[in-house]
Amino acid sequence: VAKQEGRNRYHFFTPSMHEATRSHMLLVNELHGAVMEDQFEVYYQPIIEFSTGKVKKAEALIRWNHPKLGVIGPVGFIPVAEETRLISRIGDWVLQQAVIEAARLRETYDPEFQISVNKSPVQLEADNVEYSSWLESLKVYGLQPNSIVIEITENLLVDTKESTRRKLLLFKDYGMEVALDDFGTGYSSLAYLKKFYINYIKIDRSFVNNLSPHSSDMVLCEAMIGMAHKLGLKVVAEGIETPEQAALLKAAGCDYGQGFLYAMPLRKEELEKFLQAGPVTEPAL
Ligand code: C2E
Ligand code: MG
Ligand code: MG
Ligand code: MG
Repeated sequence: VAKQEGRNRYHFFTPSMHEATRSHMLLVNELHGAVMEDQFEVYYQPIIEFSTGKVKKAEALIRWNHPKLGVIGPVGFIPVAEETRLISRIGDWVLQQAVIEAARLRETYDPEFQISVNKSPVQLEADNVEYSSWLESLKVYGLQPNSIVIEITENLLVDTKESTRRKLLLFKDYGMEVALDDFGTGYSSLAYLKKFYINYIKIDRSFVNNLSPHSSDMVLCEAMIGMAHKLGLKVVAEGIETPEQAALLKAAGCDYGQGFLYAMPLRKEELEKFLQAGPVTEPAL
């Protein structure tokens, strides 16, 4: 162990570390440019209501169309955006895109359609305090804040912040709903349920991955679904890739499913085509 620690300490001063800092700074610079030059795009992944097969919601997932590197996923740049103030601008932009898209789909497809938008606690904390005027401006354009579900994840550092709770309450005042994302993976899931007036839990895909009858993951999924329903919450399962997983979750009473089995995250034109194709039929087992 000592030898390894020594090696790590040595590692700290190697050129590769220098390289990492340099490329990190490049990324920060490029992110600024990306905001200015409109290089972001929102993809939408359909969320299926198990009881009807209808697509009732979609999750907004940001992508960066980098001029040289191609499409970069959120894991590659959201943490860096969070270290700077850029996350607020990016987040506002995603929310705005989502509200506009939801308005279109409510008109052409389903008047109850909702789009869910991810917000990390760090992002919530960075958000403008003057949110109410921004939300008010949506209404001026005839857009409906109640078409939005805010997805939040747990973060030990900020989950005790009163300001985070107040911001979520503000969203609620505007009719938005709240989902607890990646449920079951953190420390404080249960406390969050009480504190943040949650409407949905999203079962993390690590429970869905290896789902099989009588497995411990099955027991955990059933427990999460049972508990959520007793608290009056709806349940979305993430990362469904096989018909078996879908069937087991459906049998366990899960309300909604999302995953590659149904659709990848789609460009908005593709989403609209997907919706026009009608309800999904469960593939035969
Ligand atoms: P998340 O909110 O848990 O989103 C689900 C992730 O699982 C997405 O990855 C999605 O593409 C992926 N996924 C969906 N179905 C399947 C499946 O069947 N199998 C597998 N293996 N994966 C599946 P993505 O788009 O790379 O996003 C990763 C994370 O980045 C998201 O996790 C979310 O926490 C964050 N994120 C995405 N967009 C935004 C954003 O606009 N703002 C913020 N703050 N975070 C975002
Ligand atoms: Mg999410
Ligand atoms: Mg998730
Ligand atoms: Mg996640």
